[in-house]
Amino acid sequence: MIELRIDGERLWQSLMDLAAIGATEKGGVKRLALTDLDREGRNLVVRWGREAGLEVTVDQIGNVFMRRKGRNPDALPIVTGSHVDTQPTGGKFDGNYGVLAGLEVVRTLNDKGIQTEAPIEVAFWTNEEGSRFVPVMMGSGVFCGAFSLETAYAARDVDGKSVREELERIGYLGDEIPGRHPIGAYFETHIEQGPVLEDADKVIGVVPAVMGLSWYDCVVTGMEAHAGPTPMGLRRDALQVATTIMQEVVAIANRYPPYGRGTVGMVQVFPNSRNVIPGQVKFSIDLRNVSDGLLNTMHEEMLAFVARTREQSGLAIEVERVSYYPPCPFHPDCVNAVRAATEQLGYSNMDVVSGAGHDAIYAARVAPAGMIFVPCKDGISHNEIEDARPDHLEAGCNVLLHAMLERAGIAA
Ligand SMILES: [Zn+2]
Repeated sequence: MIELRIDGERLWQSLMDLAAIGATEKGGVKRLALTDLDREGRNLVVRWGREAGLEVTVDQIGNVFMRRKGRNPDALPIVTGSHVDTQPTGGKFDGNYGVLAGLEVVRTLNDKGIQTEAPIEVAFWTNEEGSRFVPVMMGSGVFCGAFSLETAYAARDVDGKSVREELERIGYLGDEIPGRHPIGAYFETHIEQGPVLEDADKVIGVVPAVMGLSWYDCVVTGMEAHAGPTPMGLRRDALQVATTIMQEVVAIANRYPPYGRGTVGMVQVFPNSRNVIPGQVKFSIDLRNVSDGLLNTMHEEMLAFVARTREQSGLAIEVERVSYYPPCPFHPDCVNAVRAATEQLGYSNMDVVSGAGHDAIYAARVAPAGMIFVPCKDGISHNEIEDARPDHLEAGCNVLLHAMLERAGIAA
């Protein structure tokens, strides 16, 4: 069966057809969650699913599952999917590739008349991007119980429209209770959204885990004063103290390679004037790693450094943790299915830990899950110039096909 291949051209054509809905001038896509364009995109994918003989169900948060029957009606379905909503300046591949790769797997099985033991399903989750409604990964989050349906329904966009109203308006407020839909195993193909595969010249990323992250807001308070008359020894310069913490954030990440990450991405200086010693600095801290133990060590080291700096400088320093997502190791059965398929198909590959969030993280809380990465041009995503090679997308879809067949089993 390993000689079985998907149709790369058909996959590419479907990607381009879906990308035409909400296409931007710069070659990207703008299809925000639960807008008219999202409805149009969803309707097209559902139409394709029905044309491929799939049975469609929609749950109360608008997650869509499209089922291809297996020989054994009692077997739990092997599910693949991702999302079809995009960022305001999004690309053609983020999310959409994972959904259409699943559809292409089904079309291939149909063409060859292959029946699986377990059912095969293609899913798309509501509002993965989180740019119109917060929180991100909303559909999969409700599905796995990370937060409630009521919380998700109550989320509003900048115009005050709620998720529930918009789901109803676009016709995707379904009946099924989220989470009631059984999943035997879950696979998600995705562009890497980073530069690692391209840099190493590999075709397939086997994803053993998604990094955990810890976010903080830090405020250093000193005293603003005139830059001329105030001698160096008598200053309470908040920015100078803040920069030592910022440097330490990066140093901590460097102490825990290869997956340690430390970023200060947002800084506000008050009063932000050329000839005033800064009186207050607010900044963000983003720490990541692949194991909970290492992430916790980084957290402790950062707090200890802040405590020492507070003592030495005499300035008030507050640090508040504002977000925490634990690292998500994927299930060995799924990771191994991806690795085995990749090896059998003869694609160059390497392990790539995901630094970005995906629906698969939440799916992994309710079922064995795994991911397949393919390179994207220059590692760029969440951008209209996001790009990926047809042969890479085809390879990732072939790996998906064989990993799913391995889990679903072929009916004799
Ligand atoms: Zn995505």
